[in-house]
Amino acid sequence: MTRQLLALDGDGIGPEIMAATLAVLDAARLRTPIRVTRADIGFAALETSGSTIPDDVIAAAKAADGVLLGPVSHNAYPPREDGGLNPSGVLRRELELYANIRPARRMDGVPAPANGPVDLIVVRENLEGFYADRNMHAGVGEVMPVPGVALATRKITADGSRRIAEAAFRLAADRPDKHVTAVHKANVMRLSDGLFLDCVRDVAQGYPDVTYDEVLVDAAAAHLVRDASRFDVIVTTNMFGDILSDLASELAGGLGLAASLNVGPHHAAAQAQHGSAPDIAGQNRANPVSLILSLAMLLRHMNEDGAATAIEGTVADLLKDPSTRTPDLGGTMGTREFGAAVAARMETPT
Ligand code: ATP
Ligand code: MG
Repeated sequence: MTRQLLALDGDGIGPEIMAATLAVLDAARLRTPIRVTRADIGFAALETSGSTIPDDVIAAAKAADGVLLGPVSHNAYPPREDGGLNPSGVLRRELELYANIRPARRMDGVPAPANGPVDLIVVRENLEGFYADRNMHAGVGEVMPVPGVALATRKITADGSRRIAEAAFRLAADRPDKHVTAVHKANVMRLSDGLFLDCVRDVAQGYPDVTYDEVLVDAAAAHLVRDASRFDVIVTTNMFGDILSDLASELAGGLGLAASLNVGPHHAAAQAQHGSAPDIAGQNRANPVSLILSLAMLLRHMNEDGAATAIEGTVADLLKDPSTRTPDLGGTMGTREFGAAVAARMETPT
């Protein structure tokens, strides 16, 4: 049975890193073939169909077995009355992608600001918290009752907290360290983060083999910089996860290496952690590794472990050599050339 993967280029460096990633997918030896279909989102879609995320693209994403989601410049979109929606937020909601799995791992030989090993996963709640609804429409969920006073609501639910905790503990149970840390600010946000923590503790009871602790978000930021190796799996709410995963990824070598997978009960979407990097778009200098490693996560999720491991191993091998690195890592290799190098090495019989 051939499976379907929907590739959405996105804005900025999106088309370039997607092309490199699809070259790698072409070279991956899969157990079951995957047919890639493509559709426009972002500015390209706005021009042709009046929306940055047309309804038929949402339908195609629902019908696909997986989505490869390029970065989007949603900050630069027109207001939603004029078709500017955040495609990433809309897809997260429409496909119920409640978990954003964001690994940060130092790669052998690649310079990184961390002063020790980093091998952790941030499991970020993707649909609630301060970003509930704002996921789709910037500003929704915020009010200004009087000029000079703005209020933002933060939504935490027991169901949402339990299922993100389940996702974190399931992941941790399969890792050597088998440890989960809940990151929170329950000393200040007693009701919302209090509820979140209660739910995580509850779920922890069901995993006696996984050790568990809790750290305040401010302390977690400090710990990450001082000794990231104290963390294995971090489970946290939407905004804390957004911020801490950038911190962890940068410590581990940079945003250009940072992969992520959005997961829901029936769907999954691979997405680089970074944005559309408009400052370097169109110059063949973006690092495609983040999206390539996100593809590997998606393939593993689709039970293509062999292909996923081959991609990860090949990328790690190439990055050891300074001559096969993109400029963000101090190298001179182009986006296209890096993708081609990964593909070529994967096609070489070993
Ligand atoms: P957006 O509004 O889409 O988030 P941004 O301007 O915030 O865009 P990011 O994509 O978040 O840009 O990136 C922040 C910085 O990191 C930029 O200077 C960008 O060039 C750099 N960067 C991000 N991704 C990559 C990548 N894959 N390769 C090289 N540099 C990158
Ligand atoms: Mg950004």
